[in-house]
Amino acid sequence: MFIPSGELVTISRTDAGQRGSYLRSLKFRIMILMILIGIVPTVIVAAVVIRNYEQRAVTSRSVTVKNQCDIIANKLVKESYFKDQGNENINAQFKMLTSIYGGRILVINKDYRVIKDTYNLANRRYILSPKVIDCFSGEESSVYNSDDHFVELTVKITDPDSTSDEIIGVMLVSFSTKEIDYNSRFMQRQGLMILGILVAVIIVGGYLLAGLLVAPFDRITRAIRATKGDLLTEMQPVRTYEETEQISSAFNKLISQVNVLNESRSEFVANVSHELKTPLASMKVLADSIIMNPDTTQEEYREFMYDISSEIDRENAIINDLLSLVRMEKRVDDLNVTETNVNELLELIVKRLKPIADKANVELRYECFRPVTAQIDETKIALVMTNLIENGIKYNKPEGGWVNVALNSDQSFMYLTVSDSGIGIPEESLDHIFERFYRVDKSHSREIGGTGLGLAITKSAITMHNGAIKVTSTEGEGSSFLVRIPLTHIDMGAVS
Ligand code: ADP
Repeated sequence: MFIPSGELVTISRTDAGQRGSYLRSLKFRIMILMILIGIVPTVIVAAVVIRNYEQRAVTSRSVTVKNQCDIIANKLVKESYFKDQGNENINAQFKMLTSIYGGRILVINKDYRVIKDTYNLANRRYILSPKVIDCFSGEESSVYNSDDHFVELTVKITDPDSTSDEIIGVMLVSFSTKEIDYNSRFMQRQGLMILGILVAVIIVGGYLLAGLLVAPFDRITRAIRATKGDLLTEMQPVRTYEETEQISSAFNKLISQVNVLNESRSEFVANVSHELKTPLASMKVLADSIIMNPDTTQEEYREFMYDISSEIDRENAIINDLLSLVRMEKRVDDLNVTETNVNELLELIVKRLKPIADKANVELRYECFRPVTAQIDETKIALVMTNLIENGIKYNKPEGGWVNVALNSDQSFMYLTVSDSGIGIPEESLDHIFERFYRVDKSHSREIGGTGLGLAITKSAITMHNGAIKVTSTEGEGSSFLVRIPLTHIDMGAVS
């Protein structure tokens, strides 16, 4: 069968990928951690215990043998063993001692000559080993040979009844430690067996426990994967751990934000269609009535055409506002930031809007507390100023109203305040006026000529400058919009 080589590569890559992701998984890491925590200290403790046992057993055996030898040594002197080695009692004691501990005893006299060898191999021979010589000078020794499993002791023989410390002989004793070694090996084997069982238990237990610990995260993953559709449903919070609860609530928060966004997008599309259709519908009605009525006078024609023209203006205004808004939100054109004399800019705009204010019988006042220069996009901030002042004029009293424009700054920010003596904004609408197409009084605003997009554009422009806008208002008394913009522009997109 022909298998394209590419396919083979894909399969092995997938396998490797899965293996890699398992090695990186929290489950695997918890398992490894548990195995390390469980096994490493056990191995260390077992090794230390076995080693200590061997050393202690050898020391204690050496002390016992040495004590026995000391007792015999005293007897050797008392019963003149150096002169006559035929003492049955002492020889029996030598025999007993050597057979109990599997050892050999040599008794050496002052002339370094062996007078008794329990193995009967070195009798009458001279022994001039360094340890024997040292012992004659008073330095007893005890040496453990762990490779050949025996201990070698030198025990000095002195006269217990004499006041002098004269050493009259030395006992060279060696005894086997094979039994200790056997016990320690037995313990090692047992330890290894227990360790093996422990490792198996820890691996299985670690695997199960790691699975159990990670299960809540798997539940979250499944819940997140199951979230689809237009209206996303929030997941059941997984409260097993503080962390899983935080992830669940962060996810649910995100879901509700996405839902709000989706909803506002659909609402926006519906609003745009509605707003664009309204002037078209009016134009259609106007045009149809001219067509239907053959007796339309020239006067009526002019009037209808005038209405159609103002509907076209309205449609135009909506489209222009929409374009400004989309441009702002999508950042199609980046901010064109320049060092701007804000006082001059504001003065120019106030001058431009003065005729409109005069027409509406609104007094437009302008005060400037200090010269302000800021790094701003002049066009966009001009739009902010125009929108706010225009609104102040539009939503004012029919007679004797005023709009107050004030510019101020500190070391970091410039502040623009636009207050008016107008109709004010109901409290429940204050949170909504920056939404697209939101108008407090639809019929009234229509008459006034708003599109409901001005403040949305204004807010977008301010946000692009990393600024903020705040509104306070009392119905029937007036409103006040406060804008704060940093004097120095920082590109947040570049920062993040
Ligand atoms: P519009 O084009 O309708 O003026 P805006 O987005 O500029 O749209 O304003 C949204 C709504 O907020 C307006 O329709 C109006 O109801 C209200 N509003 C805005 N500015 C003022 C103001 N200075 N005084 C009273 N109401 C205001």
